[in-house]
Amino acid sequence: MSLRDLLISQIRAQGPMRLDDYMTACLLHPEHGYYTTRTPFGTSGDFITAPEISQMFGELVGLALAQAWLDQGSPAPFTLAELGPGRGTLMADMLRASARVPGFLKAVDIVLLEASAALRDVQADTLKTYSPRWIDSIEALPGQATFLVANEFFDALPIRQFVRDGTRWRERQIGLKDDVLAFGLGPAQPQPTLNERLEDTQDGDLIEDCAMAAPILATLSARIATYGGAALVFDYGDWRTLGDTLQAVQNHDKTDPLADPGHADLTAHVDFEALLRAVPPCTPSRITPQGVFLERLGITARAQTLAQTLSGAALETHVAAHRRLTHPQEMGNLFKIFGIVPQGSAMLPGLET
Ligand code: SAH
Repeated sequence: MSLRDLLISQIRAQGPMRLDDYMTACLLHPEHGYYTTRTPFGTSGDFITAPEISQMFGELVGLALAQAWLDQGSPAPFTLAELGPGRGTLMADMLRASARVPGFLKAVDIVLLEASAALRDVQADTLKTYSPRWIDSIEALPGQATFLVANEFFDALPIRQFVRDGTRWRERQIGLKDDVLAFGLGPAQPQPTLNERLEDTQDGDLIEDCAMAAPILATLSARIATYGGAALVFDYGDWRTLGDTLQAVQNHDKTDPLADPGHADLTAHVDFEALLRAVPPCTPSRITPQGVFLERLGITARAQTLAQTLSGAALETHVAAHRRLTHPQEMGNLFKIFGIVPQGSAMLPGLET
């Protein structure tokens, strides 16, 4: 039975489903989930992420975290962690670059939070010269200094959507229309957790809420405040979300999120305000466009060095990758980044408080 048929019979039996439950089924269903059944990243996959565009991304991120490790007195042993590592490309590039930092590889304990068994296999293969281990939840991070990166992780977490109706909210749900999956709205209800949004919204506005995101960051921040470390979070989104940002992508094209459950990537913009609210007791950086951050870390100089060894089509691809990562009309502005460090520690390179 396909995931679509499974969901249709579930809705027939139990009524309309919440969007977060729909997203979880589409992305992580053990048999049919998008991430559990395939490796969707890269030029031949459905979409391409920054570390898959160029090795420069992981190199610079790895060196930024290694600098934070040095700034904090090279704690040993320490954890180098990643949330949602995809194919493991970012971690591999980070480790290759930071191998030059004396003592780094000797003290590192690589920890990956990954929900998909299929992707864990790919990560194990990419990182086979290291000894990574996998955890199922952020609470399982070891109690030691933790330097962590997350790229396009928070946008993959399930959201709920609410449409304002007076001072109440109607939840967007997935039901059936002529036996086909269709969006509808639940009854108007008070939503005490959304009270703050009554101040900046009007009747009919749609807002999104990602319940999983802030607790993950809160746990991480408490860890880093206690044991030392730093985190770098990259994603697309804005300070406060307003409007429907649910997006389905298949074969590099946008598609209807209900059209083919389990066969398209589903994401939503990250609400950076909600994430940053969970950061104390750590100090956050300002939210910075990805392009600005990479330029500050010297991506242009790195690109020029790499270009010297390339020619023809490979050189063209390399030049295009640099542009794609940094140009304001490509990923440079759409993707934002912030870092966190313990109070009193130096901020990560390329970021400001
Ligand atoms: N960081 C990678 C991949 C981003 S895609 C890159 O930049 O290329 C999102 C990643 O998060 C995938 O590895 C996916 O399997 C993982 N993921 C999604 N939801 C998750 C969850 N709830 N818990 C753990 N990992 C999750």
